[in-house]
Amino acid sequence: MKEIIQPVVLELEIEVVNPFSTNPDYKQCRTCQEYKHKIDDYYYHGSSKKTTYLDCTKCLNLRELNRRRAERQEELESSGGSEKVHTQVGVWSDKYQKEQTYMVMKALGYTYSDECGHFLKPGVKEYVDGKLKFYKVNKQKFPNGQKIDYNTPEWKEMFDLYMLGNCSQKQLSMKYGVSTATINKYINRTKNGETC
Ligand SMILES: [Zn+2]
Repeated sequence: MKEIIQPVVLELEIEVVNPFSTNPDYKQCRTCQEYKHKIDDYYYHGSSKKTTYLDCTKCLNLRELNRRRAERQEELESSGGSEKVHTQVGVWSDKYQKEQTYMVMKALGYTYSDECGHFLKPGVKEYVDGKLKFYKVNKQKFPNGQKIDYNTPEWKEMFDLYMLGNCSQKQLSMKYGVSTATINKYINRTKNGETC
């Protein structure tokens, strides 16, 4: 009886060769493994334009973007959140800003009140009968609305001193205890013959 010999089937190993791998104008990217055009898809080192980076521009840009995002995240978590601050209390740009502001206010003895939407501290800033009360704020020298009386000898003296060149507005401000802005306004108006 004849022995049946199974024919040996040779398995052909077909090697798939990327046509770009042999093209000198192309280079394989270290990250995405794709063959990309050396001039169009890579950044160069230095000005000689002889060597390109190991990663294609797309991969490099992505890595840079991720690096910046991570840096920004770290900044947000460690420096009180966004530098964009809302004027309204209780409105936050991000959770880091909220968390860290609460932390600082708590350390200063303030707690946020949902009732009025402000940070309150007993004896300093309280919410009484629907109004905010500040107990330790010094009263203004010239409360809003109160008119300054410019018809006093001091104001004329101040003006003369300035016009003679003896005193700067800053010096007058310190001497008479009035802000430079007010002095400036008075001097300019008096010079123009206007009344304050
Ligand atoms: Zn790539």
